[in-house]
Amino acid sequence: MDLGLKDKVAVITGGSVGIGLAIARALAAEGVHVALCARNQERVLEVARSLRDEYGVRALGVPADISRSADVERFGAEVEREFGGADLLINNAGTGSEETVMEASDERWQYYWELHVMAAVRLARALAPSMQRRGGGAILHNASICATQPLGYEPIYNVTKAALVMFSKCLANELIPFNIRVNTVNPGLVMTPDWQKTAKLLTAGKDISWEAYLDQIAKDNAPIGRFATPEEIANLFVFLCSPRASYCVGSTYYIDGGWLRTTT
Ligand code: NDP
Repeated sequence: MDLGLKDKVAVITGGSVGIGLAIARALAAEGVHVALCARNQERVLEVARSLRDEYGVRALGVPADISRSADVERFGAEVEREFGGADLLINNAGTGSEETVMEASDERWQYYWELHVMAAVRLARALAPSMQRRGGGAILHNASICATQPLGYEPIYNVTKAALVMFSKCLANELIPFNIRVNTVNPGLVMTPDWQKTAKLLTAGKDISWEAYLDQIAKDNAPIGRFATPEEIANLFVFLCSPRASYCVGSTYYIDGGWLRTTT
């Protein structure tokens, strides 16, 4: 299937590992030029280099912490300078949390608000005007099934991801007159290095291997009985970016192996 994405420009936050990297690779395989940001400079520059080498696309790696408004502004300016704007924006960077509402400080809430919500607000303001100039585009938010079905140990994650879903809906209504389609993807369990690191820590010195520990989590939660690969999630992102998804506007798409326990 020709997805009609060749020579588009995609901006991906957190494109250096995990789901963001899989999205960057899948888009580059479609001939999309990419701009990635992440905090770890060495890794984001190395990923950009490997995408250039492997797919022959233009790839810009920018070290930036998107929880900081100045870094988001600088990232947007570098995209403008390098590519003259963007056609696609994937707000992917984010991370889990662990706290109780009673014990978490205001600062902790504020950090996750900046990371999960304000980064998306600021990048929309920075990049939507160029999408409009270029005839339209697509903005995708990587939220989580936790936006709807909360996990008990991470209330701040659940709340800020839920806010991101509502932001996405509001932005979709505001930008569709300019042919910019905005949607959200809510993944379930996705096997990324972060999950593996946590599992190794939790099983160190115990009778269970980290692989068996993760396998049990999948079997206990997702009817499909396994984690998704980042590539399986990336496939949905790429489709939603493409003109093949031309009637997909303002929606939230779950990709969770059946984990969501409701029909909405
Ligand atoms: P990873 O931890 O594997 O990767 C996160 C990426 O974001 C890295 O490139 C990281 O690079 C970057 N990043 C993190 N914080 C910042 C920041 N402040 N500024 C810039 N870049 C940042 O995460 P996943 O691939 O697992 O998750 C990606 C998204 O998917 C997240 O939003 C997550 O909430 C969501 N998700 C993940 C699920 C899962 O099971 N894995 C399930 C549902 C949703 P660096 O550290 O160098 O900054």
